[in-house]
Amino acid sequence: MVQMSKTVFIIVDGMADLPIKRLNGKTPLEYALKSNLYKFLKHSEFAYPNVLGKLAPQSDAGVMADLGYDPFKYSTGRGWFECLGLDMQPQNGQLSVRVNFGSVSDGKLKDVRVYMSKEEIESLSEEIRKKVKVSAEFDFKAGEGYRAGLVFRSGKKDFSPFVSNNEPGYTAKFFKGGVKLSFATGIKNTKINKIKAVRKEAEYTASILNDFIKKSAMVIKNSKVYRERRKKRLELPNYIFLRDASNRDPNLEDINRKYGKRWAAVVGMPLEKGIAKSAGMSLINVHERNDLKEDFNEKADYVEKALSKFDAVYLHIKQTDSVSHLGKFLDKYAIIEAIDKIIISRLSKIMDLSKDTLVLTCDHATSSELKRHINSNIPVLISNGRFGFHSNFGEAECSKDHTKEIKKAVDIMPFVMKI
Ligand SMILES: [Zn+2]
Repeated sequence: MVQMSKTVFIIVDGMADLPIKRLNGKTPLEYALKSNLYKFLKHSEFAYPNVLGKLAPQSDAGVMADLGYDPFKYSTGRGWFECLGLDMQPQNGQLSVRVNFGSVSDGKLKDVRVYMSKEEIESLSEEIRKKVKVSAEFDFKAGEGYRAGLVFRSGKKDFSPFVSNNEPGYTAKFFKGGVKLSFATGIKNTKINKIKAVRKEAEYTASILNDFIKKSAMVIKNSKVYRERRKKRLELPNYIFLRDASNRDPNLEDINRKYGKRWAAVVGMPLEKGIAKSAGMSLINVHERNDLKEDFNEKADYVEKALSKFDAVYLHIKQTDSVSHLGKFLDKYAIIEAIDKIIISRLSKIMDLSKDTLVLTCDHATSSELKRHINSNIPVLISNGRFGFHSNFGEAECSKDHTKEIKKAVDIMPFVMKI
């Protein structure tokens, strides 16, 4: 029996960037040494699609688009995927929300992200779950670093997604068919906003969310984690920022049936887990590790194992986006080099480069000088024996030479699946 060809689809979070003076006018991707990738570049096609037009995408929209789901058709708000990925089992009619632990000072914004250890964020989330009393039943669960999920199970009235975010960097927009998407609009001032109802039917939801924010801030300030971090002079979380409340399943079509291939996902972050689960992929849970080498080696192991059982594997890599938000462009190109050295090198040994397909792309561009997502097009490398030679992979190369069949990010998957 002839073995079916395999596909590995890698989304490197926020990998694309703008040219940086200190990198000789190159982007981190262009600047990085990618010696293992050359094996894949020998037979490759490039694409340079836009993700959401003029708007700067969040990761949820970027990943959906890359996997072939038009965000303008499917998105019901990121909160659904986040809470699903945290195994909180959101249901239609309930309200799923993404939470950031942040800090305010004298009523002004200090930080939308206060990183905590696993123990700290779990202990703090447990206190919130036990001590916050609002007029609706809820679950609250710790995620990674500064992230958590919140699901309101039942309330006095129906929940509505037509509310704004109090997370100042992301603006919620509403489109026809109940589509809800947030865009990275950047933080313009230090004002702390309340959550507002965009439609009258959402007034109850907005009031519950604002009540929850107020009461959880009091719980945080009296928590064990707060006291202990103050003693250690660490940055103090004292406020929560909510975004992307969703009240229904986006009902993504099953990816296995859509393309007739069995998909597995090697993902560690709740959002990406939630999207993979919604798409019907088999989840291979990996823990995000702090040590880069350990993390990439483990991910490579899982991809290798998954490839022996599945036709296609989606791998998500987070670190590039995290360092971009912190402005660390030197770390960004070093991470891209480590991806090449550990993951791409492994793939070059286990994939049949003449018939298997490798896709290397990102969900959106993140500018490490602006420290936020931007609306730039994304570079896409599609490697398969049928394509011709390219000498380097980066934003400039893709912009100069790319297939016309892929105009938007949502076109990548159908193109790849028909190779
Ligand atoms: Zn992202």
